Amino acid sequence: MWSKVYTINLTNSLHIDGMCTINVSHLSPTKKIGWVSMKPAAFEYHLPESVSEATRLLAELPEAELMAGNQSLGIAMSNRVATPDHVIDINGLTELDYLDVGNEKIEVGAMVRHRDIEQSSVLAETFPILSISAEKIAGPVVRNRGTLGGSIGEADPGGNYPSVLVAMDGEIELLSTDHTRSVDATDYFSAETTNKTDDELIRCARFPREPFPSRRTGMAFLRKKEAAQSWPIVSVASAIRVDDPARQNPVIEEARVGYANAADVPLRLKSVEAAIEGEPLSDHTLHTAGDRAYDGVQPQSELHADAVYKRELARELTKRVFQRAYDRATAEPIVV
Ligand SMILES: Cc1cc2nc3c(=O)[nH]c(=O)nc-3n(C[C@H](O)[C@H](O)[C@H](O)COP(=O)(O)OP(=O)(O)OC[C@H]3O[C@@H](n4cnc5c(N)ncnc54)[C@H](O)[C@@H]3O)c2cc1C
Repeated sequence: MWSKVYTINLTNSLHIDGMCTINVSHLSPTKKIGWVSMKPAAFEYHLPESVSEATRLLAELPEAELMAGNQSLGIAMSNRVATPDHVIDINGLTELDYLDVGNEKIEVGAMVRHRDIEQSSVLAETFPILSISAEKIAGPVVRNRGTLGGSIGEADPGGNYPSVLVAMDGEIELLSTDHTRSVDATDYFSAETTNKTDDELIRCARFPREPFPSRRTGMAFLRKKEAAQSWPIVSVASAIRVDDPARQNPVIEEARVGYANAADVPLRLKSVEAAIEGEPLSDHTLHTAGDRAYDGVQPQSELHADAVYKRELARELTKRVFQRAYDRATAEPIVV
């Protein structure tokens, strides 16, 4: 009936898109769901006040979905692609909304919003690949609500952070009632699913800093999209460390590259990285890197782009992203 229902703050109010806000604070969460007529199938709503309460609920309710920014889950539920009996809203878990930038690693809590990552000055100085990739997610509405943990939980191979995670040797910390474990990003993502079990909650993502010190490093993220708000057809994340930015033609000591929507998982291609390592960037090395990207990606054809077009995009974006990262490493070294 209320196909225009857009945002529901189940603790206090029901917002009907473009129409009105109704105070429902006197109803219990379950009653609110029963009372509201909307597109998602009926579900029971839970609002844990702590991470331990959330993991307990996950253990007790194996079919439950966590609700973070609700930018992807909400669409899936509205279309009844997802019909969970229980939804656990983790927006109140401030313990998961933190950023810890240390000398050796950077840790980002699961509930940090894309917008906060995009606008973090400390990330822009120390690990800009994260802020640049966040800035390129959809539009401001999605970025204001969407979270890092939601993106990793969704694990879409077209996701921006997943490609950064695999390129930068990131790891994901998972938490349940009885254990905490860290999984390398390359082991976490697998086609159509993840290495996460139903009772586990993503606590944070972690990135080592040591290979990419603030000086001598350049990072870039490029993507081709159909429309400003849409998912990328292909995107590429990159980092480059050079030996000495002050000398002429600095040599690339280390390169990283991660692709989104270029396979059924976020993809790191070491053969592409190797094409530019050990010498200054040149037309020749860029050309080789582009060719290796074309051969290395494993894209599926889709409505807006067939597989060959995506391979061509991977080739061209690889050359451009490496050039941009190299320019930043050499001409604009990042100073903490
Ligand atoms: C129009 C549009 C365009 C978009 N374009 C892009 C894009 O270009 N690039 C991109 O990367 N993303 C894009 N997105 C996705 C966006 O980044 C989403 O915000 C994100 O994927 C999901 O984050 P969320 O916080 O909204 O998660 P939710 O929608 O709340 O949850 C998504 C899934 O993750 C699970 N989950 C959430 N948090 C946790 C946790 N802490 N632990 C375990 N599981 C968890 C949920 O149970 C659910 O299954 C787009 C979305 C929209 C609507």
